[in-house]
Amino acid sequence: MDIVILGAGYGGMSCVTRLSRKFRRKKDVRIHLVNRHTYHLLETRLHERAVRESEVTIPLSRFLAKRKNVTFHLGEVTHIALEERYVELDFGKSETTPATPRRIRYDYLVIALGSKTNFYQIPGLEEHAFQLKELDDSERIREHTERMFAIASTESNPEKRREYLRFVIGGGGLTGVELATEMAERFDSLCEQYHIEESEPEILLIELGEKILPSLDGKQIRRSVEALQAMGIRILTNTRVVGMREENGHLEILREPGAPIPTRSMIWTGGIRISDLLRKSGAETGPQGRVIVNEFLQVQGYSEVFAIGDNALAINPENAKAVPTAAQFALQQGYLTADNVKRFIEGRDLKRYRPKVLGEVVSLGRHLAVGWASLPAGMQLRFLGFLGILFKRAISERHLFLLWKERQNWTGHW
Ligand SMILES: Cc1cc2nc3c(=O)[nH]c(=O)nc-3n(C[C@H](O)[C@H](O)[C@H](O)COP(=O)(O)OP(=O)(O)OC[C@H]3O[C@@H](n4cnc5c(N)ncnc54)[C@H](O)[C@@H]3O)c2cc1C
Repeated sequence: MDIVILGAGYGGMSCVTRLSRKFRRKKDVRIHLVNRHTYHLLETRLHERAVRESEVTIPLSRFLAKRKNVTFHLGEVTHIALEERYVELDFGKSETTPATPRRIRYDYLVIALGSKTNFYQIPGLEEHAFQLKELDDSERIREHTERMFAIASTESNPEKRREYLRFVIGGGGLTGVELATEMAERFDSLCEQYHIEESEPEILLIELGEKILPSLDGKQIRRSVEALQAMGIRILTNTRVVGMREENGHLEILREPGAPIPTRSMIWTGGIRISDLLRKSGAETGPQGRVIVNEFLQVQGYSEVFAIGDNALAINPENAKAVPTAAQFALQQGYLTADNVKRFIEGRDLKRYRPKVLGEVVSLGRHLAVGWASLPAGMQLRFLGFLGILFKRAISERHLFLLWKERQNWTGHW
């Protein structure tokens, strides 16, 4: 029997580590993990890597080396055939190696391929803007930022100098705010390094809605805005990015309302979408291309197929709303799906998915965070300050701890 998990992110890793443990004594159950990289990416910390050296990947071999029942397939999933029960991937495709297509047949499939940046077909945006989704994206932003400071330092034309030192972030949600604040902190040392006045670099945060961080409450939003402004970040709300264009070597962001913004650096964090792979597989999809799943996270019409994390449009039975795309839910869904695949195979009733909302934390640089945490009896602890950063770090560490714990439970040692 073959169980295939697509994606080694938050959902995929929690699912595969638990499945591996649950089936450790079943020789006839083979587990396959497919991922385009050889590492597990800590996506929630990617903004840190975009501005400074920071460890945001863990080699998959660290989790899988001792798991004899898991086969890792490095490759890009290119096709999911739900009717015929196989997935197709290209492994070996790189600049120097030709594509090598391969099929993997499955009895049970878990789809956890995460999301992509949504450029909403805004003219010129995908071509000219950076995004922040993959490790490479964060490296590109970091290198480019430093280049801009280096070039500006010898530029005598004040207008051009301002252009090099103007950094625009599209999207005032969690990713945009976390990146803007990390950048603001990093700029102090870049200014010193390149002999640039601290007042020269500019960070603009453009948000379509009337407020940034809309999922926080009014007071927390106000305090976050104050914190960003104290860091010198300019916030433009009610502003729509309508295009980007390059003319005579100049790059401009077109917006409504307002005049074009000349800049060399636009980072787009304005939204996500799911790969067309899923829609093309025949699965029913909803907003953002997320796959519609039932209360057990099974794909409609395909009970042997589960979708989790950003890929799944799961409904919270408490408020009948779609569960947001967030690492905490991907993790919970991964563990639950491992349990349910085992139950399904054994002919037992499946467990219903009930999301546990642990809270929400947005970092505002390295020493400050805003958000809230769930307390017993439906209470909430709200915070803005250093406590928040400790909490955020604890959530990230807890994720790693749980993955290691699954491994420990299986091998008997760390
Ligand atoms: C900068 C940033 C900060 C964030 N901060 C937070 C936060 O603080 N809190 C929070 O809850 N959420 C946060 N999120 C959102 C969170 O990271 C996602 O919701 C979460 O990663 C979703 O988990 P997942 O398992 O669905 O997908 P992912 O973790 O994205 O994993 C998907 C995996 O599939 C692989 N993959 C994708 N397509 C293919 C393919 N075709 N072939 C092979 N492999 C493929 C990817 O390489 C990846 O390993 C943040 C996101 C970003 C970008």
